[in-house]
Amino acid sequence: RKPFDVDTVRADFPILQQQVNGHPLVYLDNGATTQKPQAVIDALVHYYTCDNSNVHRGAHTLSDRATEGFEQARLAVAAFINAPEAREVIWTRGTTEGINLVAASWGRQHLQAGDRVLVSMMEHHSNIVPWQLIAADKGAQVEAIPVTASGEIDMLAFESMLDERVKMVSVGHVSNALGSINPVREIARLAHAVGALVMIDGAQAISHWMTDVQALECDFYAFSGHKLFGPTGIGALWGRAELLEAMPPWHGGGEMIEDVSFAGTTFNKIPFKFEAGTPNIADAIGLAAAISYLNSLDKAGMIAHEQALMQYAQQRAEAFEGMRLVGTAQNRICVMSFVLEGIHAADIGMLLDQQGIAVRTGNHCAQPVMEHLGLDGTVRASFSFYNTLAEVDRLFDGLAKAREFLL
Ligand code: PMP
Repeated sequence: RKPFDVDTVRADFPILQQQVNGHPLVYLDNGATTQKPQAVIDALVHYYTCDNSNVHRGAHTLSDRATEGFEQARLAVAAFINAPEAREVIWTRGTTEGINLVAASWGRQHLQAGDRVLVSMMEHHSNIVPWQLIAADKGAQVEAIPVTASGEIDMLAFESMLDERVKMVSVGHVSNALGSINPVREIARLAHAVGALVMIDGAQAISHWMTDVQALECDFYAFSGHKLFGPTGIGALWGRAELLEAMPPWHGGGEMIEDVSFAGTTFNKIPFKFEAGTPNIADAIGLAAAISYLNSLDKAGMIAHEQALMQYAQQRAEAFEGMRLVGTAQNRICVMSFVLEGIHAADIGMLLDQQGIAVRTGNHCAQPVMEHLGLDGTVRASFSFYNTLAEVDRLFDGLAKAREFLL
């Protein structure tokens, strides 16, 4: 394995080689979605060119190939997140669907009137609303764990909220709005002590080589393939086998059944029990290609490079007049969320785009934490390992131009 070199890895991402609005693209919206290496694009083309077929039918050679690729992909995901068993990995469309699956299926069986579900104040809407939907059905409550001014979960407040009526604690591993890395193992230990289960929203953590579901001691972990350099429309939910086995199916249809009759239907074993209908075969195979691409790179070098990007951005931010960083948690990764005094975030986003620089502006689907911090939005630059220090400079030069123009 060669030592990490950013110019070499950039060459693997064709989309990065273009001009946008007359400038070389600077893609700093990796929190929203990551770009795809050529290996992923090739895997999709190969699948549709050579192997496309339906899975699990055992009918013919192409079907066998599709099934093989699809199940190998499940093994690749299991290994990537250190799941004890591949049958604990359920294919979903992404993080949102994984959380909805657990909320609907586990919640239907386990939540009762008066029960409590805790989520943090800084959750993405997709880790709030599914719990609200099931809680409303069951007469349970969804409560927000407070977040400090620097964007950290208030652990003392969390501890004081725990009692035996808390049945589920669902928190993000990394905040998409602020970049805070949450102490999920500590959260899991405290939650388990009162008999609650723990679900982790891994959407923002998955691309940073920090997902080890056994070390985290969680019960469920959801992530999206498109945030791991894979295709859109595919993701995975990991859950402990004994929990998944006891949960009722969510969607009904083909693949998820054992025997169907009007006298009564029996269900397939996990993971298939939760995979009704024809799955997203091609994109699962594409995701496996993303994982094998990542496995071919120098991981320690990538992590060091991402840290260098963040450190450099932080240094430039401190020297930039009128910039206020939002979320300054001790433990942070690859997200710089900020406001510029007197300028609306959306205007900054537009002026950066004119210079070929892609960032996200607004509330980042985390409206409660933005309101809590007294903001109507921020500018978010989110980095990945293929970004360069020169691109951080382009961002700050772009911001200086935007400020000149707007103030
Ligand atoms: N949680 C977090 C923290 C996220 O950043 C996102 C995506 N922005 C999601 C959940 C939802 O992911 P998806 O839209 O891929 O389901």
